[in-house]
Amino acid sequence: MIRKIQDNVHQISFKQFGSYIYLLNIEDKNIIIDTSSPENADELISHLHELDLSPKTIDIVILTHNHWDHTGGIDLFPNAKFYGSPDDFGKNFHDIHKLKMPELKIIRTPGHSKGGICILYNDILFSGDTLFHRGTIGRTDLPGSSESEMRTSLEKISRLKFSILCPGHGIESE
Ligand SMILES: [Zn+2]
Repeated sequence: MIRKIQDNVHQISFKQFGSYIYLLNIEDKNIIIDTSSPENADELISHLHELDLSPKTIDIVILTHNHWDHTGGIDLFPNAKFYGSPDDFGKNFHDIHKLKMPELKIIRTPGHSKGGICILYNDILFSGDTLFHRGTIGRTDLPGSSESEMRTSLEKISRLKFSILCPGHGIESE
């Protein structure tokens, strides 16, 4: 399902389990945040077509963290530059903290995973698996999780100014 959040921001959700994908168009670049699970590849491609896009037209892929239900589609985008935190992805992708796009503010939010990030774009916060709707939060019982880091990250988020929360999942907290 495609949900328009703003003219240049769309959310794509799926029938099967996997993260939401957010699609942004900034400075004429097509950016996606997270890639959902491998099972959702076909559905993702057909949704991109509905938006007059295709995997080839995605320029930048930003990964909020290194969990399979967010990274399952990374092989789909032949022309994209991939960004993530080195704390989660090592040297496999470009360092997200070096992304030169002033519209996107990258915030380190470890806790759910060591290299978890949130992305602030104007008044929208893309919160990955750190913060969900209704104040629920991501799991901290996974490898690389830390309850105390999660507390610090949530405090950091609480000081940010945003009015639209775009989390990695709806109700689930995987
Ligand atoms: Zn996760």
